[in-house]
Amino acid sequence: MSAEATVEVLASELSTYLDTNRINQVRRAYYYAEQAHEGQMRKSGDRYITHPLAVAHILASLKLDHQSLMAAMLHDVIEDTGIPKDALAEQFGEDVAELVDGVSKLTQIEFRTRAEAQAENFQKMTLAMARDIRVILVKLADRLHNMRTLGPMPYEKRKRIANETLDIYAPIANRLGMHSICTELEDLGFSSLYPMRSKYISKAVAKLRGSHREIIDEIRGKLQEKLEERGLPGRIQGREKHLNSIYNKMKFKHKSFHEIMDVYAFRIITDTEDDCYRILGAVHSLYKPLPGRFKDYIAMPKANGYQSLHTTLFGMHVNIEIQIRTEEMEQIANNGIAAHWMYKNEPSDVSAVNQNRVDQWVKGLMEMRERADDSLEFIEHVKVDLFPDEIYVFTPKGRIMELPRGATPVDFAYAIHTDIGNACVACRINRNLGSLSQTLQSGQTVEIITAPGARPNPAWLSFVTTGKARSSIRHVLKNQRRAESLELGRTLLKRSLKGFGTKLSDVNEAQIQHVVRHNQVESFEDLISDIGLGNRMAYLVARQLVSDQSESGKGVTKQTELSGQEHGSMTIRGTEGLLVKFAKCCKPIPGDPVVGVMDSGKGLVIHSDTCPRLPDDSESRANLTQLKWAKDIDGEFSVELRVELERQRGVIAELANAVAMADGNIERINVEEQNARLGVVSLVVHVQGRRHLARVMRRVRNIKAVTHINRVRNRGS
Ligand code: MN
Repeated sequence: MSAEATVEVLASELSTYLDTNRINQVRRAYYYAEQAHEGQMRKSGDRYITHPLAVAHILASLKLDHQSLMAAMLHDVIEDTGIPKDALAEQFGEDVAELVDGVSKLTQIEFRTRAEAQAENFQKMTLAMARDIRVILVKLADRLHNMRTLGPMPYEKRKRIANETLDIYAPIANRLGMHSICTELEDLGFSSLYPMRSKYISKAVAKLRGSHREIIDEIRGKLQEKLEERGLPGRIQGREKHLNSIYNKMKFKHKSFHEIMDVYAFRIITDTEDDCYRILGAVHSLYKPLPGRFKDYIAMPKANGYQSLHTTLFGMHVNIEIQIRTEEMEQIANNGIAAHWMYKNEPSDVSAVNQNRVDQWVKGLMEMRERADDSLEFIEHVKVDLFPDEIYVFTPKGRIMELPRGATPVDFAYAIHTDIGNACVACRINRNLGSLSQTLQSGQTVEIITAPGARPNPAWLSFVTTGKARSSIRHVLKNQRRAESLELGRTLLKRSLKGFGTKLSDVNEAQIQHVVRHNQVESFEDLISDIGLGNRMAYLVARQLVSDQSESGKGVTKQTELSGQEHGSMTIRGTEGLLVKFAKCCKPIPGDPVVGVMDSGKGLVIHSDTCPRLPDDSESRANLTQLKWAKDIDGEFSVELRVELERQRGVIAELANAVAMADGNIERINVEEQNARLGVVSLVVHVQGRRHLARVMRRVRNIKAVTHINRVRNRGS
C-alpha cells in the first residue's frame, strides 16, 4: 500500500472522532513531512515518511488530539531535515512546534545514554524534559514503531535500542499506566535481546495453548453460565501471559515454566462498579477462592490509576486468576494517561480541556496517597516529572544528578561534594565555559573547575537554590569570618596596647577576665572578634586592660589614649578576606595613602585618605585606623578614569587597545556624554597600583583624540 493510500486510511480512522478541519490539518502536516523527508529511506528500504505515518497511526488508535497527530507526522523533521522550529511554528502553530521540539530533544538525549545503571534517573530526566505530557506519548509511539521495525538494524544498534527500551521507555509507559504499549515494548525488547530464549518460550506457550484449550473453554463456559444465571452483564476474555513477564518470573522468581503457565487467567469486563462486586460474588460461589489472593484495586486503585478486582480460584484442579473491571477501567488499564487524553468532541478549547483532564488525573493520584501503600513513590514522581520541579544534569563521567529547578553550577558542585563546592571557581557547561550563577537545564553536562585554596564567595548566596549549598557556604563564611575577625581584632588590639606602652603578653589573666566580665562577653576571644568586626574600638579595650591593671586608670592621660590608637600602621596586602574591604567611593589602589574605618559588624573599610566621605573633625579622624600597603602586592584593584576625547571613528577601540597595551584590564567602559564633537568616556580598569596606573594613563593620553584624562576619586557609592 502506498503512503498516500495509508494517509487516507488514517484520515478515515480519524473521522470517527475528529472534524474535517482538524483532519485536514493532520493531512497538511503529513504532506509537509513527506516533502521534508523526500529522498530519505529507512533501513528496511521503505520511504522514510512511512515511519511518522505509522507513529500517527499508533496515536490515532489511542484517539489522541490533532496536535499530537501533527507532531507525530513532523517528529523527525527538526532532527533529520534541519528545518528549524520557527518554520514549524509558522506553518502549524506554536503548540505543534513545541511538541516536535520536545520530541527532538528526547531523541538527542538517547545518543548520550552512557550509564545503564541510571535507568531510573533517565526515566525521570525524560519526563522532566517534556513540559507537555503529549511529548512523551509521541515519543513512546515513535519508540514502539521503531521497535516493531528493528529487524534490519545491525546487531549492536538493535541491542542498544532494545536495552534503552527496556530500561527507560517501557517503565515510563508503565508509570503512565499505558499497559498495552508497555507490554508490547517489553516483549519486543526481550525478543530483540534474546531471540533464542524468546523463540523457545513462545513455542512452548503455543504448545501449551493447544493442550490447555479444552479446559480453558470449559472454565469460560462455566463462568458464562454463572453470569447468565445471575443476570449479570459481562464479557469474558482469556488472558495470555507475555513472553517478557514469563521470562522474568522464571529468572527472578525462580519459577518453572509450568508453574507459571499452570495458571488459567481470565478477565471479565462489565458495566458498572456494582456489577464488578456482584460478579465477584458469583465467581466465588462457582469455585473456591484461594485465601489471601483477593485484591480490591477498585476501592484502592494502584498508583498509576489502575482499577480492578483480582481474585484467584481453585477449580478443575487448577488455579484460575480472574480480573473483574468496567469498560472504563479497562481503557485506563490499557492506555493509562492516554485514556484521559482521548479526544472527545468538546466545543471549547481542546488543549485546555485535555490539560484539565491530565490535572484531574494527577489530582486523583494525589488523593490516593492516603489509601495506597505502594503509590507514594510514584506520586512523588508524578509531581516531580509531569510538572517538573526538578532538573537532571550529567557529570562529565555521565552520572546523572538530580537538582531542583533553578539550580546553578554552584548547587551542582555542592551536590557532588562539599569540598568541590567550597573550592569551585568556574564551570563548563556542555564543554563551554559558563557562569557559576546561570540556571542549569535538564540534559546539560556540567563540569566544575576547582582551585586549591579557593573559598566560597558570599555573592553565591544570592543565587544558590539548594539547602546544601546555602548551608555549606554559610558555614564556611561563618568560620572564615570568625577566623578573620580574630586576626584583625588581635592586630588592632596589639597596636593599641603598644600605644599604652605594653604588650598583650604582659596583661595578666586576672585582668583579662575582669575586662571580659566588665564587657559582658563569654570569652576574651569574643571580645577580640568584636574588635575585628568593628563592634568595639580597640583602644577602648586596650585602655580597660591597662587601666584595670593600674587600679583606677590614673596615669593614663588623654595623650596616651590618643597614641594608643595611633601607634604604628597596619599593613594591607589587598588579599585580606571578608572583613577588609576597599571603599567603593574612592577606590584606593596600592600607593595611595589610605586609612581604615571600622564599620560596625562589617570590619574594616579602606578609604583613600583624601576621600571626601571621611569625617573631617580631628576627633573623628583620630579614630581612623592608620594603614600602609605591603611592599609586595600583586593583586588587581579597580580604578575609575574619566577620559575626554574628540569623537572619531574607532576611538573607543583605540582607547581599549591603549589600556591593553599597558597590561590593564577593562572592567567597564561607558560613554557618558556626547555631542557632535566631544565625548566623555568612563573607564573602570584593573591595575596593580599607582605606578601601573600612571603607565595606563600615559598610554591613553598619547592617543591623539584624547584631550583630557583624570582619575575619579569621589564618586558616590
Ligand atoms: Mn522517529
